[in-house]
Amino acid sequence: KVHVDKVNKSYGDNHVLRDISLDVMANEVVVMIGPSGSGKSTFLRMLNQLEMPNSGLVEVDGYDISDPKTNINKVRENIGMVFQNFNLFNNYTVLENITLAPVQLGKMTKEEADKRGRELLATVGLSDKADVSVNSLSGGQKQRIAIARALAMNPDIMLFDEPTSALDPEMVGDVLDVMKDLAKSGMTMIIVTHEMGFAKQVADRVVFFESGKIQESGTPEEVFNAPKNERLQTFLSKVM
Ligand code: ATP
Ligand code: MG
Repeated sequence: KVHVDKVNKSYGDNHVLRDISLDVMANEVVVMIGPSGSGKSTFLRMLNQLEMPNSGLVEVDGYDISDPKTNINKVRENIGMVFQNFNLFNNYTVLENITLAPVQLGKMTKEEADKRGRELLATVGLSDKADVSVNSLSGGQKQRIAIARALAMNPDIMLFDEPTSALDPEMVGDVLDVMKDLAKSGMTMIIVTHEMGFAKQVADRVVFFESGKIQESGTPEEVFNAPKNERLQTFLSKVM
C-alpha cells in the first residue's frame, strides 16, 4: 500500500530525511513519534507530494509519487489527510464542507454526497451540526468534521498530523475515539501524535523518528515497554 525506500530530503543544507524506508500494509495502523523537528511532518507530506524527495522511491497504491508524470490528483483522491489546524472552509456549513470535494470532483451527485455526509456526521457524533456554520464549532468538533470530510472521498488511507495538538484537553478524547473507531473498521492509517496512551492502544506498529532517521520501530509493547535505542529511551522518559 505504502512503500518508501531510502528516501532523502533536504531543505538547503538541512538534511531532514535520511535514508528512510517504511512499508505500510493495508489495514495497518502505524503511529509515528519523535521529537520536534525530527522530520515526521515532512515524511507524511511526502506521501501525497506536498513535498518532493531529493532521492529514493515513494509508492502509494502502486503509484510512483516520486515520478512527476504520475497523476497526483488521482492518487490524492485516495489519501485522506487531517492536519493540526483543521483547514476547513470556515464560511460554509458543516455538510457543505463534507460534500464539496466529492461533488466537485464528480465522484458523487449532490444527493449521494449529502446522504453519505449525514452518515459520516453520525459516525463522528455530530449529526445535529449538519447545517450550522463551521465557525460556530469548537476545536474538537471541527477536527471531527475534518475527519468526516476526508472520509467522504472514501480514501484507502488516512494520514493524520498531530490531529489533537491544537485542541483543549477536554476535546482530545472525542477526536481520539473517532480515530479508534476508524482503526477498528480496518482503515489504513499513518498517525503522527504525542498521545502515547492512544498509540499504545491502536498502533499495530510504532515508528520512532529522530534526526531524520527511523531509529527504532516495533509493536507498542516493544517500543514503549522495552525500548532499545538510547535516544528513544530519552524521548520516552520526557513524554511519558
Ligand atoms: P514537529 O513535531 O515540531 O511538528 P516534525 O518532526 O514534524 O516536528 P518537520 O516539520 O518535518 O518536523 O521538520 C523537519 C525539519 O525540516 C525542521 O528542521 C524544519 O525546520 C525543516 N523544514 C520543514 N519544512 C520546511 C520547509 N518548507 N522549508 C524549510 N525547512 C523546513
Ligand atoms: Mg510536525
